[in-house]
Amino acid sequence: MIRIQADALRRVIADIFHRAGSNESEAAAVARRLVDANLVGHDSHGVVRIPTYLEMVRSGGVQPNQHAKIVLDTAVFVVVDGQSGFGQVIGEEAMKMGIEKAQRSGVGVVALRHSSHLGRIGDWTEQCAEAGFASVHFVNVVGAGAIVAPFGGADARISTNPFSAGLPRPDGKHIILDMATSKLAEGKVKVALNKGVELPEGALIDAKGKPTRDPAELYATPRGALTSMGEHKGYGIAVFCEFLAGILSGGGTNRTERREGIVLNNMLSIILNPAMAGDRTYVAEEADAFIKWLLDSPPQEPGKPVLLPGDPERQNRAERLRDGIPLDDTTWNNIVVAAESLGMDGKATRAQAKPGN
Ligand code: NAD
Repeated sequence: MIRIQADALRRVIADIFHRAGSNESEAAAVARRLVDANLVGHDSHGVVRIPTYLEMVRSGGVQPNQHAKIVLDTAVFVVVDGQSGFGQVIGEEAMKMGIEKAQRSGVGVVALRHSSHLGRIGDWTEQCAEAGFASVHFVNVVGAGAIVAPFGGADARISTNPFSAGLPRPDGKHIILDMATSKLAEGKVKVALNKGVELPEGALIDAKGKPTRDPAELYATPRGALTSMGEHKGYGIAVFCEFLAGILSGGGTNRTERREGIVLNNMLSIILNPAMAGDRTYVAEEADAFIKWLLDSPPQEPGKPVLLPGDPERQNRAERLRDGIPLDDTTWNNIVVAAESLGMDGKATRAQAKPGN
């Protein structure tokens, strides 16, 4: 393991993407979002993705320096095409459009299609919350192939289709729910495979549809499949990610074939003025009182208090900003190799990190 400070890691990653063809502001945006995913503890959506992202640049799966293009624009509704641009730029631009509508009309609905990987979806919920708006986001995945079985099905037909929702709070401690609709994120299966450990009961089926705890079954030929979180209920949300994000945006569903080097996200976002009924004070006070009501529940296990969605990420951010971001040796080596392949000084890059745990 190594530890590296967020600022230093951001500089390395921005340099990599700038050399790979992104202009300075795009390279900085990609670096900021990837490092942020590590900061909040979602390592599966952070800098571990550098090799895949660079491969997508090389194969044309992601197009550097694109911007969100308006396809249809009404008072409250905007359809946006991401033109296979970096999700870190396209996502932010699309949310700005929705926030402007919500500022004018109280509601902004954004149907975003054909963005390259949007990363951690909570980023977009946080952007809305920072601007003072509540929001919900449904996301589907196209191109990367199916990886999750429909409830009761024996093979993969959908993806880990994330869902996110947020409520802004005046103290900046926004409530942010951000989750895959599969029981496990794919990144966690890879980690288990690398460590040689079994998966929890019920998270995976093999290619015959039988439950298995062996992570290798997900990558076997023919492939196994992840299962939905919450059985039929998580599956139901994932289906609506396909309907709302995939079909309503025009971006398509996961029915499409796996295409090497392509990961496209479609996202339907509904952005709302939290004081729609007109009384901001009531919203703030009742939210505070309800949160207190929840957190006052006595813990089942001593020392493990009830948390709110977004709390684990906030705790991770504080800790990792202080102690540096932990990266396993393989992930860090892959970053240094990528940096060297683009003409950066490998020794100077390595010197940014220190041994960690
Ligand atoms: P997770 O299971 O770690 O967390 C899910 C949610 O539960 C979070 O909002 C978290 O704050 C909350 N939470 C966790 N522990 C809690 C507790 N004890 N009490 C209360 N709330 C708690 O997340 P995940 O499902 O593994 O998703 C990981 C990331 O992967 C997310 O950021 C998601 O957006 C991302 N993702 C992206 C894509 C894509 O295509 N772009 C696809 C799938 C997932």
